[in-house]
Amino acid sequence: MTRYVIVGAGEAGTRAAAALRDAGEGEVLLLSEEPVPPYERPPLSKPDDEHGFRKPVAVDLAGIELRLSTRVVAVDRAEGRLETEAGERIAYDRLLLATGARPRRLAVAGASRALVLRTLADAEAIDARVRAGARATIVGAGLIGLELACTLRRRGLEVAVVELAPRALGRAVPAELAERLVARHERQGVRFLFGTEIAAIEPAGVRLADGNLLAAEIVVAAIGVEPETALAATAGLPCANGILVDSTLRTADPSIWAAGDCAAIDHPRYGRVRFENWRMACDQGAFAGRVMRGEGGTFAALPWFWSDQWDLSLQIVGLCDPARCAVHRSLGADGLVRFELDGTGRLEAAAALGPAALIGREIRLAERLIERAVACPSDLLADPGADLRRLLRG
Ligand SMILES: Cc1cc2nc3c(=O)[nH]c(=O)nc-3n(C[C@H](O)[C@H](O)[C@H](O)COP(=O)(O)OP(=O)(O)OC[C@H]3O[C@@H](n4cnc5c(N)ncnc54)[C@H](O)[C@@H]3O)c2cc1C
Repeated sequence: MTRYVIVGAGEAGTRAAAALRDAGEGEVLLLSEEPVPPYERPPLSKPDDEHGFRKPVAVDLAGIELRLSTRVVAVDRAEGRLETEAGERIAYDRLLLATGARPRRLAVAGASRALVLRTLADAEAIDARVRAGARATIVGAGLIGLELACTLRRRGLEVAVVELAPRALGRAVPAELAERLVARHERQGVRFLFGTEIAAIEPAGVRLADGNLLAAEIVVAAIGVEPETALAATAGLPCANGILVDSTLRTADPSIWAAGDCAAIDHPRYGRVRFENWRMACDQGAFAGRVMRGEGGTFAALPWFWSDQWDLSLQIVGLCDPARCAVHRSLGADGLVRFELDGTGRLEAAAALGPAALIGREIRLAERLIERAVACPSDLLADPGADLRRLLRG
């Protein structure tokens, strides 16, 4: 009987475990260093009404052996064995590394005073400091920083966001959408300091490079993540901004795969790339589970992600590039879609901001147009009255 072992019980690990269990052959062991059962990360920064920020993963784990508080510290590839922090040895026939990512730390004096947000424990630590009228400073205007800004502001805190770059959300989100989103935050009273360097995290708040102090009881560093590759690297597996895998998610070792935020995959459309989003982690995890049990195929799924802030949803399918030819489509007062075309008029990516129901439809359609490599006339894309579904029929 094949023994499948998965390190990491996040989105990718749990989906892989379910796919392996569903095959009905072999033994599936899922190891998590966290002390709590697997949960969803998106609600950590944007709690929902039903679960708050404690939402269990939507995966049935029956028939899977799950071990919590089990940190794997070494992989002995020659022997096909893992070693845990507690000194236990665990044999595997086929191994999946689904170790995710960890928050990047600030490199300034007092950096350890800043909280981060990746795990349930992190969310609880931030929550424990929330008091009406308290002040929060978030360092980094990326997706998680902005989502947290919204959540804390909604809870009555004074919120400032400090960002070194001249704008929010970096290259992955088109500037025109990022600007609209920032304007929405500002209307709600969130303060932004762009192009601002920080010098230190002090007990009283964030000391800026110009000497000013941003007084804050809560300081959160939200400056991105780094792939969790330590285990793979010490096992001698090639890593470069992620664990290097081929288009079947297999590492240089034929018995070891990697999936999710930790994996730098060889994607048929984008080449070497690492994604950091929920659906990619789920898709890669499920795919890895299937290939580990012997199915063929190439992982070619398109990236799609969403972010909810205030009454707006941001959704992007494909990888945006500011240099690409773009066509805009206006959806009522609040909605805007940016379609990006390649040199032959085929859709490469689409980004939209607006009410979730409205833009979700457009992005789903865009996804199908990208997948089918349909040539899209610009005038049709720009016309808010045009039904783009006809492009799929033609
Ligand atoms: C606050 C927050 C909000 C987000 N919101 C969105 C969103 O709105 N939309 C979106 O598309 N994406 C969002 N994401 C991103 C998305 O959640 C991640 O891309 C996804 O969780 C990655 O899944 P994963 O399984 O690859 O890694 P993870 O979910 O990070 O799971 C990896 C697990 O492996 C464990 N692990 C690591 N090393 C070891 C070891 N040596 N031994 C044992 N266990 C180990 C880790 O502790 C962790 O539990 C958000 C992320 C965060 C943090």
